[in-house]
Formats: sequence, C-alpha cells, structure tokens
Amino acid sequence: MVKLSRRVLEMEESVTLAASARAKELKSQGRDILELSVGQPDFITPKHIQDAAIKSIQDGSASFYTVASGLPELKDAVSQYFENFYGYSVERNQVVAGTGAKFMLYALFAALIDSGDEVIIPTPFWVSYADQIKMNEGVPVFVTTSEDNHFKVSLDQLEAARTDKSKMLLLNSPSNPTGMIYSKEELEAIGNWAVEHDILILADDIYGRLVYNGAEFVPISSLSETIRKQTIVVNGVSKTYSMTGWRVGYVVADPEIVAAISKIVSQTTSNLTTAAQYAAIEALTGAQDSVEEMRQAFEERLNTVYPLLAEVPGFDVVKPQGAFYFFPNVKKAMEMKGYTDVTAFTTAILEEAGVALVTGAGFGAPENVRMSYATDLDTLKEAVRRLKVFMEN
Ligand code: PMP
Ligand code: GLU
Repeated sequence: MVKLSRRVLEMEESVTLAASARAKELKSQGRDILELSVGQPDFITPKHIQDAAIKSIQDGSASFYTVASGLPELKDAVSQYFENFYGYSVERNQVVAGTGAKFMLYALFAALIDSGDEVIIPTPFWVSYADQIKMNEGVPVFVTTSEDNHFKVSLDQLEAARTDKSKMLLLNSPSNPTGMIYSKEELEAIGNWAVEHDILILADDIYGRLVYNGAEFVPISSLSETIRKQTIVVNGVSKTYSMTGWRVGYVVADPEIVAAISKIVSQTTSNLTTAAQYAAIEALTGAQDSVEEMRQAFEERLNTVYPLLAEVPGFDVVKPQGAFYFFPNVKKAMEMKGYTDVTAFTTAILEEAGVALVTGAGFGAPENVRMSYATDLDTLKEAVRRLKVFMEN
C-alpha cells in the first residue's frame, strides 16, 4: 500500500464539499434529495460579467499567462472596489489575486505561518481554516462562542487565548456558518487589542455585501490606519456576484505580505485563469444592480424560512444577519431522536428525510447543523416541511 504523507493523513476532507458530493451521489441514484449543503448562490453569473470573459477569450487576451499576482487592471479594480465599499483605496503592490479566496487563505498561511505559530480562531468557524493552518504546521487555537453570546468572542476570551506564540487572529464577519456580524465598537476593541499585542488580523470579508434587514457590515480594516496596517483582508467574487465556479479570490495587505503571498502563488498555481480575471474586473467595477437583486432574494428567503425553521421541534435557531446559512442548535432534536453525534444525526436527515445539511462538527460546533438558504423558496419550504415530519415521526 502506498505510504501517504503525515500531512494528508492528519487532515480532514472539507465537510461542506463532502456533504455536497454525497447528496449528488444519492441524486444520481434517483433519490429525491434537497441540497442545502454547499454554500453557493443559485443565480447565474450576471451577463455583463460573462461578456467580459467572453470578449477576453475572443480577442486573445485570455490566451496567455499574466503576472502571477494578477493583471494590473485587476489590482486597480480591487482598489476601486475598496474605494467604493471600504472607503479607502490601495496600491497595486497591496493586492494579490489567485484561485479562489480558499486558495488565497492557504497561500497566506503558507507565507506567514511557521511551525508552532498559533492562530486564534473563534468557533464556530468556516471548515477550511483549521486544516489549512495545520497543513502549514501552525496551531489553531479555538475560542468557543455559542448562541448565548450571539456567537461573538469577547476581549477576555481573546486575552485568555493569547500566548507569546499568537501570530494571527481570524475574523469572519458576517460569519459562515452563523451569519453573525460584529459591530463597529466590537471591531474597534478587537482591532486595538490586536495592535497592542502585535497579532495580525485576518479579515475574511467574503460575505460583506450579503447583509440583511438593516444590518451593517463594517470592514475592520476601515477603522483606523493602525488597525489597517495590522490587517490582512481576504475577499473574492464567489458570493457577491454568484461566481463560485470562476475561482477568483484576492488578498489586500501590506506590500511585504503581498509579495510573500505572490511568491507562493508563482510557485504553485501561477496566475489565476486569465479569462476569470477579466470577468472579475467587470464584476468589481461594472454595474452593481445584480448584487442588490440577489441580496434581496436572500433576504426574502431568510425572512420567510426563519419562522418556519424555528417551529421544527428541537431546532433552536438564532436569526442570522448576514451570509446565507441557518445554523440551528439541534441538541434537543438529537436527544428526541436518540442521537449523540451530530454527524450521524445529519446523515439520518439525509437518508430518511432527503435533506442534505452539513454537520456542525466540521465547524467546531458539535450541537449544530448548517442549512444553506441560497436556493429557491419552494425547495427551502419543502426542506423545512420534511425536517418537521422527520422530527415528529
Ligand atoms: N471564506 C469563507 C468564509 C467561505 O465561506 C468561503 C467559501 N464559500 C471561502 C472563504 C472561499 O471562497 P472561494 O474560494 O469560492 O472564493
Ligand atoms: N464555502 C462554501 C461553503 O461553506 C463552499 C464550499 C467550500 O469551499 O468549502 O459551503
């Protein structure tokens, strides 16, 4: 038998992608499965964005490599986007683009984390952070939050987690999976704490444009010059423009950090697919109407489905403010059905109710399941109906 690396043996497969793969497999066997597992908008990429890519293919610009860190025009587009939505612009040497925000996270851990460096991660956290840190020999340090404190870390918790090895704090607001958003005041306190202790802030802002019912996304990097210097922003076009398949992500940070990440990109993927870069330029700088249309659709789904989900026996759900996930606590539901393990409970829901959710286990939340509402209302209503039937049987 082939001897696999310790690295791969110690890592978990992405639970979101695994759940989605299992749902697709059952569907291909003819089973009636409602897929609420993987987090991706259900809209087609807006036409003006498609057209920009098609043009670059047809005029030949997309035939060739670009600079590894991305086209200068793409860096300018990111700068313009930041001017519009963050309130500050950036220089080209502060931007590096690559193959999805997910890979950019990996590249930045590879560029910054040495063996034993600690990264503080508030839980529940998005599934890939911890494994990517471990792949780079870093140590994820989890700080637990729950429904009781609205899934937010306190300064006391951060202080208790801090050691002389603390290198970075991960912040994902709006959060996948909880949909929680930190307020400006909370971010100021966290930002100043990080500056005081020279801990880098990794701000994963990917859901920043998807906020509902008057909630506001405040980028931590916009709060002060000192906090900005301490912050590495990760963002992308997947969620905002319904472009998950295009694989465009980017990092905005100090030139020294950007140069280090660019080096990793140059030795791994080379540049992000050139046609996708042209699409991203149009997404970031072109008409933004479709973003608001999609945001409103998510908001309607959230407001319609939330009260229905709250009625499912044993499901305790906090109403999310952003992103597109419900993250109900199912402790009581598991007790009612005789389960102690949330992954087994999620599998039973898939097998018996035909509803594909994601186990909270991969998010560091062993009492929760994640349900994406980035799908049409009929599917969502039917899924909740099936969950109710499943719980009542
Ligand atoms: N960060 C978070 C919090 C996410 O949920 C995702 C995936 N949905 C990503 C990063 C990566 O996004 P992508 O690779 O599609 O740009
Ligand atoms: N991030 C999305 C999710 O949480 C897409 C899948 C993934 O990249 O893990 O479902």
